[in-house]
Amino acid sequence: MANSKFEYVRQFEQLDTLLPNTWIVVRIDGRGFTKFANKYAFEKPNDKRALELMNAAAKAVMAELPDITIGYGISDEYSFVLHKTCTLFERRASKLITTIVSTFTGYYIHFWPTYFPDTPLSPPLPSFDGRAVCYPSVQNLRDYMSWRQVDCHINNLYNTTFWALIQLGGLDAREAEQTLAGTLAAEKNEILFSRFKINYNNEPEMLKKGSVIFRGYELVEPGSHNVAEDVENIAEPIQQSKTQLESDRKKRVKAQITVEHLDIIKDEFWDRRPWILS
Ligand code: ATP
Ligand code: ATP
Ligand code: MG
Ligand code: MG
Ligand code: MG
Ligand code: MG
Repeated sequence: MANSKFEYVRQFEQLDTLLPNTWIVVRIDGRGFTKFANKYAFEKPNDKRALELMNAAAKAVMAELPDITIGYGISDEYSFVLHKTCTLFERRASKLITTIVSTFTGYYIHFWPTYFPDTPLSPPLPSFDGRAVCYPSVQNLRDYMSWRQVDCHINNLYNTTFWALIQLGGLDAREAEQTLAGTLAAEKNEILFSRFKINYNNEPEMLKKGSVIFRGYELVEPGSHNVAEDVENIAEPIQQSKTQLESDRKKRVKAQITVEHLDIIKDEFWDRRPWILS
């Protein structure tokens, strides 16, 4: 475009490039979903349709953005991990976050009728916020993922017990809250089992573990050496060659994207899928 006397305003734009050679996590979260869940009568404590809708939108985001290596979702949030060599949008935070948030939101609305055929959306429409955080090491990244999965477990155990006390035990919300105040995990398990014959271990995996989305290649046999650790230990060049990047990208585009409900805290998940962090 031609220069104009107005063009100087561009200089007001702030650089927001994320630190090179770090794992970028973009976490999105539904805005006001406590209210949103009430409006659409989400089942308590967990509406499976709503979780599956989140997973469908996340899968679509991953298919459109091959730079995302893994995603993890619970409740109204999803974390997307961009590979440390990612150069999409020159790693500009605002571009990465807004693209992921708007792509996710678009698909969430697009897939809504598939999961909620009897309750059409009406304004205010669902929206999501997003943030980006850089993690310098594989250990930091894995600790981040573990943090989210521990959160899933703590919240789900609490919510399952809370709603059992209300729905099956006839307590009101205040009484249920008081019953649970200060209880440890073992005590919640005990309440579920002794009062309601619910064995928490038998609850659906999606609710206990959340949802992991990744590209599925052939699994590596357990017992072979720990590639994830190797990757961490080898001093790697910051940039991969253009042809290497391009062939990796093509492989990622072709791979099947799968949603599973697995333990991502222990090593096994990562050891058997070394391509996720390499
Ligand atoms: P904010 O805008 O600050 O994120 P929020 O109301 O969305 O506010 P969160 O901490 O994100 O607060 O909590 C998500 C809320 O959405 C919780 O109240 C949770 O119970 C509800 N929710 C999300 N997914 C489901 C689901 N699948 N089934 C039932 N409730 C859900
Ligand atoms: P990027 O992802 O980098 O933004 P882009 O293709 O969206 O790539 P822009 O610079 O944003 O590039 O340009 C917007 C493009 O969309 C232009 O090619 C423009 O012609 C087209 N476009 C946008 N709105 C209209 C419209 N109302 N009618 C016809 N073409 C449009
Ligand atoms: Mg929030
Ligand atoms: Mg929220
Ligand atoms: Mg949330
Ligand atoms: Mg454009």
